[in-house]
Amino acid sequence: MNKYLRTSLLALMAVPAFAQEKAKPEDTEIYEPVPPVVSALPGQIPSDAVVLFDGKNLDKWASSSDPSKAAAWPIADGAFTVDKKFGGISTKQKFEDYQLHLEFKIPEGIHGEGQGRGNSGVFLASTGPGDEGYELQVLDSYNNKTYVNGQVGSIYKQAVPLANPSRPNGEWQVYDVLWTAPRFEADGTLKSPAKVTVFLNGVVVQYDFVLKGLTQYIGQPTYKAHGASPIRLQAHGDKSEPISFRNIWVRPL
Ligand code: MG
Repeated sequence: MNKYLRTSLLALMAVPAFAQEKAKPEDTEIYEPVPPVVSALPGQIPSDAVVLFDGKNLDKWASSSDPSKAAAWPIADGAFTVDKKFGGISTKQKFEDYQLHLEFKIPEGIHGEGQGRGNSGVFLASTGPGDEGYELQVLDSYNNKTYVNGQVGSIYKQAVPLANPSRPNGEWQVYDVLWTAPRFEADGTLKSPAKVTVFLNGVVVQYDFVLKGLTQYIGQPTYKAHGASPIRLQAHGDKSEPISFRNIWVRPL
């Protein structure tokens, strides 16, 4: 063996086998599975969304305290309005992770202040017949002071919103939410916490916030094991004029 050949052979042996073939662009291209086609035309809901309210009826909802009772909140002009005496309403369908779209309107000329002005809420997972779960606050926060972890866009008493893009009352406002439900071990201990990203009127107000547990009015949040859960709208007991909702859809992920 001549000196040149010996050196070349030794050099080749030192190179790992996988590096001897030159990497190609197609090595890192994936073709399967193909993402499902979803039509999402301007002004229309995504074609694969579960429509929770299309302006006509509340058939997809029931009373939160008694799921056998129809959700009797009044409907008019393609929207429905909270009936505080009736109590909260929950979706009949249960969800884990999802994308949610929802629009709400604080009535024009609303009275009250602080937590007593346009208070409602979206319980992203409702874990009991009353106000149990994880509340994304709904409130009139346009020129209305309250504790900042209780204003619109907050995860109530857990996360201050990153901004306040509230519109004046009388105007429709839009929530878009990405919700990751918490997971629990068989013995009820927490496996992975809930996470949420929220846009209010197109502005990020919660960015991948990791929840500390169930919403608590008094005291610290803690987790309690649960499975797939309904989404609930709050009938808050304050005396202000009730708010309205429209155009609600969800895409389970
Ligand atoms: Mg509330």
